Amino acid sequence: MKIAILPGDGIGPEIVAQAVKVLNALDERFELETAPVGGAGYEAAGHPLPEATLALAKAADAVLFGAVGDWKYDTLDRPLRPEQAILGLRKNLGLFANLRPAILYPELAGASTLKPEVVSGLDILIIRELTGDIYFGQPRGVRECPDGPFKGQREGFDTMRYAEGEIRRIAHVAFQAAQKRGKRLTSVDKANVLETFQFWKDIVTDVHKEYPDVALDHMYVDNAAMQLVRAPKKFDVIVTGNMFGDILSDAAAMLTGSIGMLPSASLDANNKGLYEPSHGSAPDIAGKGIANPLATILSAAMMLRYSLGRAEQADRIENAVKAVLAQGLRTPDIFEEGTTKVGTEQMGDAVVAALAK
Ligand code: NAD
Repeated sequence: MKIAILPGDGIGPEIVAQAVKVLNALDERFELETAPVGGAGYEAAGHPLPEATLALAKAADAVLFGAVGDWKYDTLDRPLRPEQAILGLRKNLGLFANLRPAILYPELAGASTLKPEVVSGLDILIIRELTGDIYFGQPRGVRECPDGPFKGQREGFDTMRYAEGEIRRIAHVAFQAAQKRGKRLTSVDKANVLETFQFWKDIVTDVHKEYPDVALDHMYVDNAAMQLVRAPKKFDVIVTGNMFGDILSDAAAMLTGSIGMLPSASLDANNKGLYEPSHGSAPDIAGKGIANPLATILSAAMMLRYSLGRAEQADRIENAVKAVLAQGLRTPDIFEEGTTKVGTEQMGDAVVAALAK
């Protein structure tokens, strides 16, 4: 099993180093090969996604990704900016399904901005379609407004579209994920206003016929946003399009208190995937040794489960993370009175020690 390790920028190398330590502490050895990406790719090879890095990602069985981006690259032309590496990897590897679990460990209930009784024990999975929707639809741009009261002025426009096959494949991923969990799926749309999402709803309803053991309901995105902060524990699995998923998954992330705890997976049609923490490169804390590595360590666990077929090893890592939280160890982002503050390295070491027990 070969894993491409792409640490990236900012806190990326610090947190990925902890996940690598954890992978190396498992019973099974994996072949790990590291390559630069993002700003580091630009520095090393003049491009955020160097050819050799892309070739490694394609050849590997899975990719473990840190984070990319730094303010110092903001003046580069858009195709050379670090964030383009993520879009390039998604496109080249055909990663169309983004899985983001939002789990609130009981020990961290106080870290959420919501009341503990609303979020304690939260365990939901948001599945976001990643390669379609208004983010990629053509045509787009700025043109002369052709009609209406603003005729003749400049207008910005984008195109929302989803092909039937795109909706079917993400629906299958979602129904299958729901089968492995609480067997409830909520499809989020805006069918009352958007043709694209009436079509989405019709296709998801049709795919449901193949999964009679899963209970499906449909919810408008505005209501879903409200329910996520009102009664988030009512959800099991949520599936939605690229733009709605972008927004809802960040809202769900904050239910758990810290973005430093949240892993993610982006999968292709064969369950090959790229695994990364849900947060960015956090340039404000890079190099200080205080970043929370748990989202990255939990991403490595997801990688073992979804792409490498090693569910037992994934369970071991997840249990080790629960154990260090139960011991009261906290990086500053999740620190509370009465717990023990530790740095990035110490947190990684504690997970390794808990694995050994
Ligand atoms: P960010 O997620 O990097 O940081 C937001 C806040 O959360 C910061 O205060 C940061 O210190 C904190 N934070 C993030 N991860 C943390 C961790 N593991 N432990 C403790 N605290 C943590 O978002 P941002 O500041 O908006 O963006 C910074 C850079 O990251 C930008 O260049 C942006 O483009 C990039 N970015 C990259 C990705 C990615 O690589 N997938 C995703 C989002 C943003």
